[in-house]
Amino acid sequence: MKYIFVTGGVISSLGKGLSAASIGNLLEARGLSVTFLKLDPYINVDPGTMNPYQHGEVFVTDDGAETDLDLGHYERFSLNRMSKENNYTTGKIYYNVISKERRGDFLGGTVQVVPHITDEIKHCIVAAGRVKGRKIDVVIVEIGGTVGDIESLPFLEAIRQFPYDIKKENVLYIHLTLIPFIKAADELKTKPTQHSVNKLREIGIQPDILLCRTDRFISQVLKKKIALFCNVETTAVITAKDVESSYEVPLVFHKEGLDEIITKKLKLKSDRPNLKSWEKMVNRIYHSKKEISIALIGKYVGLKDSYKSLYESLIHGGIGNEVKIHIEWIDSERLEGVDVSPMLKGCSGILVAGGFGTRGTEGKISAIRYAREGGVPFFGICLGMQCAVIEVARNVAGLKGANSTEFEPHTPHPVIDLMGSQRNKKEKGGTMRLGAYPCLIQKGTRTYQAYQHGEISERHRHRYEVNNSYRKQLSDAGLVFAGLSPDKTLVELIELKDHPWFVAVQYHPEFQSRPENPHPLFREFIKAGLDHQSAGV
Ligand code: GLN
Repeated sequence: MKYIFVTGGVISSLGKGLSAASIGNLLEARGLSVTFLKLDPYINVDPGTMNPYQHGEVFVTDDGAETDLDLGHYERFSLNRMSKENNYTTGKIYYNVISKERRGDFLGGTVQVVPHITDEIKHCIVAAGRVKGRKIDVVIVEIGGTVGDIESLPFLEAIRQFPYDIKKENVLYIHLTLIPFIKAADELKTKPTQHSVNKLREIGIQPDILLCRTDRFISQVLKKKIALFCNVETTAVITAKDVESSYEVPLVFHKEGLDEIITKKLKLKSDRPNLKSWEKMVNRIYHSKKEISIALIGKYVGLKDSYKSLYESLIHGGIGNEVKIHIEWIDSERLEGVDVSPMLKGCSGILVAGGFGTRGTEGKISAIRYAREGGVPFFGICLGMQCAVIEVARNVAGLKGANSTEFEPHTPHPVIDLMGSQRNKKEKGGTMRLGAYPCLIQKGTRTYQAYQHGEISERHRHRYEVNNSYRKQLSDAGLVFAGLSPDKTLVELIELKDHPWFVAVQYHPEFQSRPENPHPLFREFIKAGLDHQSAGV
C-alpha cells in the first residue's frame, strides 16, 4: 500500500481538495485503485451541526456520515464511494481516544498527544486503506487547514511519523502552495512558498512534490529556483494553474507531468493514463454553444460552497445536454413580501435548495408559486420539496395557513411534520434520517421515465416528512406522489400534473451526480429548461 499526503501552505482555499481528487483521478486513469481520507483540524465530531457559512456544504455518504465537502470532490473525480471511514476530525479522533481511556485501555498510563492521539490518527489512515471488496493501491490523505496553524499540528506530526512504520518509499508528501503574481513588479513571487516549505521542514516533513497555484504557467527558470530553495527536484515543481472549470485540473496536472512523477517516485507500475473520455467531457463544458439561466434559491447563497454538490450537479446536467449553465444565485429572503417575477423572469428553470429553520422559507414558497403558475420548470430538493407541498396545500388545495411544524408548531394544517422516528431524539449530532434509503417510483411518471427504472437508492438528510393524513387532499389538488419508501409510509418524490416539469424530492440527488454520468433528474431538469427557453415563454 502506498500513501500520498497532501498538505496546504500560505493561505487556505487554494484547492487542496480538488488537487487530492485530481491526483486520484489521474491514478485511476492509469489503472490504479485509490481511496481518500480527509483529516479536518476542527473539534466538532463532524460538520453536521455547523452552519454552512462556517463550513460550506455537508456531504452525506451512503452510510449516513455527515462529512466535509471535499469528499464530494473525491466522489465526483473518481469511482469511489466514500463512507464514514473517509473523514476524521480532531474531535472524532479525541472522542475515540477518550472513549478508550474511559474503557480502561490505557490503565496506568498518561494519555498524551504523542503517542496516543498520533497513534489514533495513524490507525485511521491505515483503516482508510482497507476497503471491503477492493484492493487499494494508493491512499490519498488530505490534511485540512494550512501549514503553520496550531490546530493541524497533531495530524502533521502523525504523517511525519508514518514513514517510520511503513518505509519512506511507500510515502509521498505533496504540498500545495501559492505563487502570487505581483503586478507592480511584473513578477511571480516564490518567497511565500519558500516560507511555507520551511515551516513544513521545521516539523520534519520534506515535501517531495510542490503544486504551485498560479494564474500562469511557471517558467523552467523559476521552477529551478523553487526547486533549489525548497529542496525538491525541478520536475517535482508542478504548475497548478487557475482554470475556468475545476474538471480541467487533472488535465493540467497531467500536462505538467504530475502522474508520471508520482508513479515514478512511489515505484508504482501502471499504464499510460487514459484521459480520453474525461477530456471529451471537459471539452463539452468549454465548447457548448447554447446557454441557459437557472435560478438557485437558498438562504446561504452568500457562500457558494454551501451548495457545492447542487452547483456541480447543475453543471453535469448542462454537460448532459451540451449547454452552458448560468446560475442566478438568489437569496430566498429577498423574495419575501415582494413581486418575485422581476427576479425570476429571465430564468428557464427554478431550483429550490434544502435547508433548516424558518428564515427565507416564505420566499421559497413564493418562487415555487411563480414556477407552478407560470409553467417554469421547477426542481425542489429536500426542504425545497417540503415548501412545494406547502405551496400546493395553501394555494391549490385551499388549506389556509398550511405549513411545516418546523416553522410553525401550531399551524392549522401541518402538511409537513416531524417523522415519528425523530420524536424522541434529544441530541442534535448525527441523529437525522441520514444516508442511502431505497425508494420505489410509480410507473408512468416523469421521474420513472428519467431514471428508466423504478427502484432507486438516494441519500437523505432530514427530520421532517410529508404528513400522510394530507395525502388524499394533496393528490386531489394535483400532486402526484411519484416515489415512496418501500413500506409506502414516506413520501420521497412528488410531481405535479399539468405542468411542463415540476419535480421535488425529499432526498439529495446531488450527492450522486457525476460529470461523466449526470444524475437523471438534473439532466431532465436542464432539458426541460431548454424546452422552456426555446418555447420563448
Ligand atoms: N429541515 C428539513 C428537515 O429536516 C429539510 C432538511 C434539508 O433540506 N436537508 O426535514
